[in-house]
Amino acid sequence: MLDWSEPKANPAIVVDPVVVGGVSADATGLGAIERGGARVSVDDKRMINARADVNQLLPLKYRWAWEKYLSGCNNHWMPTEVSMQADIALWKSRDGLTEDERRMLKRNLGFFAASESLVANNIVLAIYRHLTNPECRQYLLRQAFEEAIHTHTFQYIVESLALDEGELFNMYREVPSITDKAAWALKHTQHLDDPDFRTGTPETDRAFLRDLVAFYVIFEGMWFYTGFAQILSLGRRNKMVGIAEQYQYILRDESIHLNFGIDVINQIKIENPHLWTRAFQDEVRGMISDAAELEAAYGRDTMPRGFLGLNAALCEQYMHFIANRRCAQLGLHLSSPRRRTRSRGCRKRWT
Ligand code: MN
Ligand code: FE
Repeated sequence: MLDWSEPKANPAIVVDPVVVGGVSADATGLGAIERGGARVSVDDKRMINARADVNQLLPLKYRWAWEKYLSGCNNHWMPTEVSMQADIALWKSRDGLTEDERRMLKRNLGFFAASESLVANNIVLAIYRHLTNPECRQYLLRQAFEEAIHTHTFQYIVESLALDEGELFNMYREVPSITDKAAWALKHTQHLDDPDFRTGTPETDRAFLRDLVAFYVIFEGMWFYTGFAQILSLGRRNKMVGIAEQYQYILRDESIHLNFGIDVINQIKIENPHLWTRAFQDEVRGMISDAAELEAAYGRDTMPRGFLGLNAALCEQYMHFIANRRCAQLGLHLSSPRRRTRSRGCRKRWT
């Protein structure tokens, strides 16, 4: 029982809000409420380091982010809607798949199983904190759920085919060509994991951009695409059609994730042109170039002899095409011939 007879002071008033220049500068949205604060003006909304209240979705500023949230919702699917009967029969039949196809399939599943979790963790634990725009956060919440659905897909595949769950989910720590990619990407999110990390200086804002490039442009925008090509190539030959169908749905989701990431990076560039220096552009080209090398190694490891319709050399050529496309989307075009000779990455002629 509680004693209600004594009047009490208002327990909600605990601490004064942090106010900078008359506007609340609470990046997370979980700080003290600015009582009587002014209504949000669209002009105060920014991708990073915003002063506008991050808890107010409206008025919308970035319609592209809201549209992507709606598209994500319209694409909703669940892995369990896809029948695995044909896949189970083929996987269990002794000569349904060649040894090379089995090796590729298992390593592909192993790569994706861990990668979906790494991408989800990066969104929730690193990106979300520092992206100070509510419509972008709305999309991130949708994307986080889609990553959970993708992880669910690999659980469903393991269960359906009775695969060794430890072998598959631990592969990113056991197979070097997969470990190398994950370790490379994690390098770029570890700074943001530091509880003292704050954006707001050119150095930390660039660290945030590096994370976006590593996860959206490279992890989801380059490495996933070889993975999709491998499985869809099996599907075209009527092999593992259930998994191929699931990968088509994942591909549809990932195309939006990638395009959201590209739009976020380009919008940050527009609002903060001082970050996008020539030296930093070269650094991003270098990241994309390194990522293509790591992917070529993964291609050789997963397809040492190749199989009908696909081999490591084709995969490498495809990765060069994809890398150049990502460069173009970020506005990283070939520079003048004078500079091209002493540069790397996307200035290199791939073909
Ligand atoms: Mn995903
Ligand atoms: Fe994704």
